[in-house]
Amino acid sequence: MPLPAGRVARPPGVGEVQTVRGPMPGDELGATLVHEHIFVRNLELEQNLPDGEWRPADAVASAVAGLTALHELGIRTVVDLTVPGLGRDIGLVESVAERVPINIVAATGWYTPNVLPLFFQFHGPGRAIDGPDPLVGLFLRDIRSGIAGSSVRAGMLKVMTDVDGITPDVARVLSAAATAHGETGVPITTHSHPASRNGLDQQAFLCDRGVRADRLIIGHSGDTEDLDYLRELMDNGSTIGMDRFGMEQILSDDRRVQTVVRLVELGYADRMVLSHDAAFYSHVTPPSWRAAAAPRWRMDTISRHILPTLRERGVSDADLDRMLIHNPRRLLEAVA
Ligand SMILES: [Zn+2]
Repeated sequence: MPLPAGRVARPPGVGEVQTVRGPMPGDELGATLVHEHIFVRNLELEQNLPDGEWRPADAVASAVAGLTALHELGIRTVVDLTVPGLGRDIGLVESVAERVPINIVAATGWYTPNVLPLFFQFHGPGRAIDGPDPLVGLFLRDIRSGIAGSSVRAGMLKVMTDVDGITPDVARVLSAAATAHGETGVPITTHSHPASRNGLDQQAFLCDRGVRADRLIIGHSGDTEDLDYLRELMDNGSTIGMDRFGMEQILSDDRRVQTVVRLVELGYADRMVLSHDAAFYSHVTPPSWRAAAAPRWRMDTISRHILPTLRERGVSDADLDRMLIHNPRRLLEAVA
């Protein structure tokens, strides 16, 4: 599908959202899934230990069909949080974006639960090849000029901590993201490990470095039922990602729904966003495994199953709109 009339690659103006096809007005964002992955790959493994299920043309066809079906279900925008470390290949995502009636937002950041590639040990301030931190340069280039030589600009920063917490390398990634955020205003989404309540550590670390808590989505928060922890994150000002619907191998959808219902009843609908953390292809958990072991871990589960259940349990359409439309818009719209 051609670019909508007048849409060209350029930085977003205030109130616009940066997408793979260029900036669009925030009021066109519509129902948005804020934490998904089009493809999760590993380019080195593909060369040396390939997965027989990875066939690029098939994967693109499956993403095009899946995103087109999502549009028919009412979803208008998907944020693809596949950053380097997860096999980001912007050309392939662009070829999907050109063929679907849905908006895709690309992200920058670095995905590592503990250590960075060796390159980063040798490059950076005070290192053998002394100079500015290349992570900061990468994030700023992705946001301001385009990802990997393309004209596609990133509209979201993505960082992570997992069971190992904020290791020295993870601290470096978080600091670089805080710097890039400070210069551009682009919001930050995290991958957190709620079992160790480390969303609070992310929040404290980033806010100490100048990030406003209300520009942060603490991702994977739906993996826990610890309401005190979740309320603390939101009372501090952040939005939480109830973003793994369908990932029933970690927590059942029924229990994920129950947590959202309780928090809506407590008045937190303006601090939650909904998504799946699903992918059309992942080298880590290939399609055949997903089909057998996690059949509901798909990007249409919220539209098909979760929204009707939330309505049945008393969540109003206004609150659903907050979580699906207004909260993502508040975060994704470019700020002055
Ligand atoms: Zn993710």
